[in-house]
Amino acid sequence: MTKTARKWIWALLAGLFLAWLFCLPRNLFKDTPCSTVVYSAEGELLGARIADDQQWRFPPCDTVPSRYAKAVVRFEDRHFYWHPGVNPVSLVRALIDNIRSGHVVSGGSTLTMQVVRLSRRRERTVWQKLIEAVLATRMELRYSKREILALYASYAPFGGNVVGLEAASWRYFGRPAGELSWGEAATLAVLPNAPASMHPGRNRDALLEKRNRLLAGLLEHGDLDQDSYEAALSEPLPDAPLPLPSYAPHFVESCPRGVQTHSSIRYSLQRAVETAVNRKSDEMAREGVADMAAVVIDNTSGAVVAYVGNASPDRERPGVSVDIASSPRSTGSILKPFLYAAALQDGVILPETLLPDIPVNMGGFAPQNFDRQFYGAVHASEALARSLNVPAVFLLRSYGVPRFHELLQRCGLTTLGKDASYYGLSLILGGGEGRLDEITRAYSGLVRGYLGLTDGASTKTGQNVLGGAVKWDKTALWYTFEALKEVNRPDELDWRLISSVRKAAWKTGTSYGFRDAWAVGMTPDYTIGVWAGNAEGQGVPGLTGARAAGPVMFDILNLLPESGRWFPEPEAVGLPGEAVPGNKNADARPGLIRADQFTYASICPESGMLAGVDCPHPQPMLIPSAGLESDPCPYHTDGIFTLTPAMEWYYKPHHPEYTGAPVARTTALMEFIYPSGGTTLYLPRQLDGKVEGAVFRLAHRKADATVFWHLDQTYVGETRFIHELRLSPAPGRHVVTCVDGEGNSVSVGFTVGE
Ligand SMILES: [Zn+2]
Repeated sequence: MTKTARKWIWALLAGLFLAWLFCLPRNLFKDTPCSTVVYSAEGELLGARIADDQQWRFPPCDTVPSRYAKAVVRFEDRHFYWHPGVNPVSLVRALIDNIRSGHVVSGGSTLTMQVVRLSRRRERTVWQKLIEAVLATRMELRYSKREILALYASYAPFGGNVVGLEAASWRYFGRPAGELSWGEAATLAVLPNAPASMHPGRNRDALLEKRNRLLAGLLEHGDLDQDSYEAALSEPLPDAPLPLPSYAPHFVESCPRGVQTHSSIRYSLQRAVETAVNRKSDEMAREGVADMAAVVIDNTSGAVVAYVGNASPDRERPGVSVDIASSPRSTGSILKPFLYAAALQDGVILPETLLPDIPVNMGGFAPQNFDRQFYGAVHASEALARSLNVPAVFLLRSYGVPRFHELLQRCGLTTLGKDASYYGLSLILGGGEGRLDEITRAYSGLVRGYLGLTDGASTKTGQNVLGGAVKWDKTALWYTFEALKEVNRPDELDWRLISSVRKAAWKTGTSYGFRDAWAVGMTPDYTIGVWAGNAEGQGVPGLTGARAAGPVMFDILNLLPESGRWFPEPEAVGLPGEAVPGNKNADARPGLIRADQFTYASICPESGMLAGVDCPHPQPMLIPSAGLESDPCPYHTDGIFTLTPAMEWYYKPHHPEYTGAPVARTTALMEFIYPSGGTTLYLPRQLDGKVEGAVFRLAHRKADATVFWHLDQTYVGETRFIHELRLSPAPGRHVVTCVDGEGNSVSVGFTVGE
């Protein structure tokens, strides 16, 4: 051989070696779509969705359970652990067989070669088989035997549209591959051998015979003992493929497609919550309330541990597939605790500050309480516990709509995308929309803020929205929880519907037109959100948060492990301070303890505000530090608790003990209830186009006072006892002035719109 020839041969060999080295694609199954598979926190299968190519193909596994590994190696490739990817003896034998018969009849393929074939999906020819053999040797260099076996188990066909061991285990035996018996493992080991003809539904005798022959081989080889062998022989073959488990179906639907997700859902809890919600929803469906959703969050981790997107997926109805837990719905009163906590935190109010509850018209918005009554004045905590609308609107006006709107967004509500002015003051009464999952998470954020768990937690969508975005003041939260734990509230809850009541801080909400019923409950350990209504949006008379959602919330609470703990009281540093008059300069007050976030201040018990010099019985109270900047009590005159005339008018019937200061010229005697100053009125018209006019109303402290009414200086009438007068001023600006018999007068300016 010449030197040149030798060189060429070396070059050729080197070339071939390089070709061999680079012949195997980096990722064998790169474009193979997988099923969406979702597991519980414990690793139980919650549900799965078919892959994009309509195959049940679970994402690839790392290892193969030992029974199946032994069975498949014995059946397919008994020298698997010894050969370098090809088995020359069986390959040559197979080639001879094939050439003799003129077409491809028998295997001779190792498991490694089969993995190559599964990844290439070419026709089965002798030429392709040779290529597979070469690739298989290269594959052995890259992967361990364990990895090769796992690839085989992940992509082998198992009849019909079932691909891979894990999907096959679930479809044929209803359990994960790790829990297969010997009989089952052997069945699945022989199945891919000829999946088209060996579908378990057909040719059962041939399949049974193959399985039993394999079991005998395993017995002979010592892989299983005589008892296990006999037990395995007696196992029946599977019937038609089984449906996969389907828990938290809407949650599964929301998980990333084509991959497996290890969720935070707790398996047993999820099943129990589904049962409870489905039962209640089926009951309520008879009353026209078709849909219900629930979300449970573990406050310690911040993770969702149970998620019912919509109850009773088997009960047919139009909205059954809607995941309501993540759909925007009108919030009703469910956001009120955030306003109370924020207003406390920022010193807009103190925990018990008296809020007005009188008729009001704010730019055309005239809020009403649920019971259509006015109470004159209500302490803020009671207004929250009773979910009164009018005081909440007054509070939002003081706090500021843009500020509250921004706060809700920082709490993780993504559904309030419009400008704050779009919602206006109705934001606190359901003028905006919220998602149950986000609202429950925002409530959980209150608990986490209180317990100091503000690091944020990954959500099912991977967002970090908890804690970090809003830094809550613990004292403000403490009073919020205290107000919300009041269970004896007059808002229409039928307690007979609730089996047993555990302690929870909770809030209900009912949207306009009885379309949405909300209830959210908090304990230090869990936050539970429930929504009831119709996915399609129609309202149902009597559908209220307390009636429809509250009982389910407590049912779920009863399913949760009980730690018995409650929110620890905020620890005050030092001792209660001395009486603090309404002095704005906190540092100038001796005896006052100003801690980081909270402080003691001297509070007027009647008004709940900082005690002023005229307040007779000031009490020390723990308040958020910012509360030192709040307004002092304006309701004490000469030591006597005296409301404004309008508040008094509505307050008295509910508080017979109320007297107010003796009528004297130093206090306001009269106040307009309607209209409020500076507003624009639009007078209703009758059918014939005639203006109906509006009823003007005035409160006078003296029960028997006579009042003389003037519209723009012109006398228009007099009233006694009840001061109401219907007036029809022309469009434009006007002033109404009322004068009583003693010469006291009050005026209100307003505009009548066209
Ligand atoms: Zn006072």
